[in-house]
Amino acid sequence: MTRGAANAGPETVSQSGAAEAIHIENLHKRFGNLEVLKGVSLSAKDGDVVAIIGGSGSGKSTLLRCINCLENPTSGLIRVNGEEIKLKADSHGHTAPADRRQIERIRSRLGMVFQSFNLWSHMTLIENVIEVPIHVLGVNRDEAVANAERLLARVGLAEKRDVYPAFLSGGQQQRGAIARALAIDPRVMLFDEPTSALDPELVGEVLKVIGDLAQEGRTMILVTHEMKFARKVATHVVYLYNGLVEEEGPPDQIFGEPKAERLKQFLHNVH
Ligand code: ADP
Ligand code: MG
Repeated sequence: MTRGAANAGPETVSQSGAAEAIHIENLHKRFGNLEVLKGVSLSAKDGDVVAIIGGSGSGKSTLLRCINCLENPTSGLIRVNGEEIKLKADSHGHTAPADRRQIERIRSRLGMVFQSFNLWSHMTLIENVIEVPIHVLGVNRDEAVANAERLLARVGLAEKRDVYPAFLSGGQQQRGAIARALAIDPRVMLFDEPTSALDPELVGEVLKVIGDLAQEGRTMILVTHEMKFARKVATHVVYLYNGLVEEEGPPDQIFGEPKAERLKQFLHNVH
């Protein structure tokens, strides 16, 4: 993790030699009178697995949604791949994207997997996976299908290619959603509690796929309540409390020797 690189140019390279994938500085997000993010900073270099933990309502989803331009921050800075997301503010202080095409470009570098309802229900699994590569990125169909088949095999769903989501288990749907997110070969994967809507017996198969990606060096930001998993796969853990980073550090430190009282309490309650 690098901090305070405010003046660094695009594609900042850290001491370890890895390039900056995501950089967030002093991010604020307000919904009306409710300030949900109160000055969050974090960054991820290529190959980092950043786990974000914290109680319900602490701002985890809002933070991920700002990275993916699904929410417009009230203030602060986000760089994806070294490119700063440009926002414009009106006289009421409401922010909006300054450049629509930039938003498309930023999103094409990010694969997002939500808690549930990820796949398009009117398309078969393989149609889900090839949709964006063909219709947004302009990949030719044969190539997109070959890549999709490879990705479906990787998440253990090769034989389900022509099945509609309604006929898949929740765990299969989430694995399919991961394959779909990977189909654009994103620089960073963003996961927002990808297993919390699943029946307990289906959680393991989805964590296995995410764990394999982490092992392969896929950069990711992962919001999760699976603490054992976070401890195993994360390179860095961020504990959010009430819109602020209360504590952060390597997994063994955060889970083994938490300092903040609130974090200790949180870990006690989730176990
Ligand atoms: P978490 O993912 O950590 O549970 P969220 O980021 O979803 O937290 O939400 C943080 C707070 O922001 C909550 O109080 C939530 O009700 C509020 N919030 C989230 N999205 C909106 C929205 N679009 N409009 C108003 N309030 C919102
Ligand atoms: Mg959430």
